[in-house]
Amino acid sequence: MSERIYLASPHMSEQGYEQQYVKEAFETNWVAPLGPNVTNFEQELADYVGVQWASALSSGTAAIHLGLKALGVKKGDVVFCSTLTFSASCNPILYLGATPVFIDSDAKTWNMCPKALKLAFEESEKNNQLPKAVVVVNLYGQSADLDPILELCQKYGVPILEDAAESLGATYKGRMSGTIGDIGIYSFNGNKIITTSGGGMLVSNNEAYTKKATFWATQSRENERHYEHQELGYNYRMSNVVAGIGRGQLKVLNDRIQKKKEIYEIYQESFKDIEEIEMMNICDFGKSNYWLSVMTLKEDSKVKPLDIMLALEQENIESRPVWKPMHLQPVFKQYPFFTASKETPVSEDFFYRGVCLPSDTKMTKEQQQKIISRIKELF
Ligand SMILES: *Cc1c(COP(=O)(O)O)cnc(C)c1O
Repeated sequence: MSERIYLASPHMSEQGYEQQYVKEAFETNWVAPLGPNVTNFEQELADYVGVQWASALSSGTAAIHLGLKALGVKKGDVVFCSTLTFSASCNPILYLGATPVFIDSDAKTWNMCPKALKLAFEESEKNNQLPKAVVVVNLYGQSADLDPILELCQKYGVPILEDAAESLGATYKGRMSGTIGDIGIYSFNGNKIITTSGGGMLVSNNEAYTKKATFWATQSRENERHYEHQELGYNYRMSNVVAGIGRGQLKVLNDRIQKKKEIYEIYQESFKDIEEIEMMNICDFGKSNYWLSVMTLKEDSKVKPLDIMLALEQENIESRPVWKPMHLQPVFKQYPFFTASKETPVSEDFFYRGVCLPSDTKMTKEQQQKIISRIKELF
């Protein structure tokens, strides 16, 4: 069997930057959930995206949890969230005892549909329960069309948590993804564009939010000689070893984006003559980081997503369906869902017709050609 080709796997720098920072952590015995790598990783990431404050945490999910808590989400509150996403975007809503309300996607951006959001706001205004926050996800590396979303949220006075777990380094109208909402979060899980093996970051231009997140993440320890706790705490801080990996990875983030873009463009060029295949639309309001190259098959295509996934699996090549929308998940299906579509909701349509293609930055041109040939053979 030939070597497995992955959707997206960890890709450490050829220069060994990560090991250098990790080595420093060992040599100085900063093998702890604090230390210079944590402080520097926060500063370096904040500088990269152009935001004032950052808090390094144990995961993107932890960042969403503390981000929503910082925005005041409590038991009994309502939080709006994009439906087409990974469950980590909305699990924390339930950790806090709040109710998620799912919002459909827009067909152009794949992300939160402003029209569906408007419907949800109007309904919640009628019911006298406006949401405490809106979680806007930037899917597969592309920003949501944030201006109309911001306008609606400002009208109703509701803050935005930008889930930029998949879109670090992408932009929207010249601004970095994750820095446009009141709070932004990134993930450094193993499959993300850069990884620390596992980790996350909460960013904001409001220092109160990141300070609170760091405080809660370190068990809400008050500044006393003894252990004093006035609030419930969490053990959510990033370790200094892990942060060293992050500092090294940050140095190659632009290279990774460049490579991901090339991968997308090769697929796009190779499939342009196959009428049944459409690559995910990339909007001109910003730059994607092309985290995953995603295709959809036209509804009347004889070749179905499963045919492609099975054909690739036979060659030891990983591919996957598009995220199954949250409003279709058994664990969340009791919660409200809003769509502006008269027919099949956009998110469901993408789930039924989509395939995430291998987008691993370690993939060679030859490996990508093999994937393309195998898919073309099916048509
Ligand atoms: C990966 C991911 C997360 C969660 O990040 P973790 O670091 O794995 O906890 C949240 N939201 C989205 C959209 C993701 O893709």
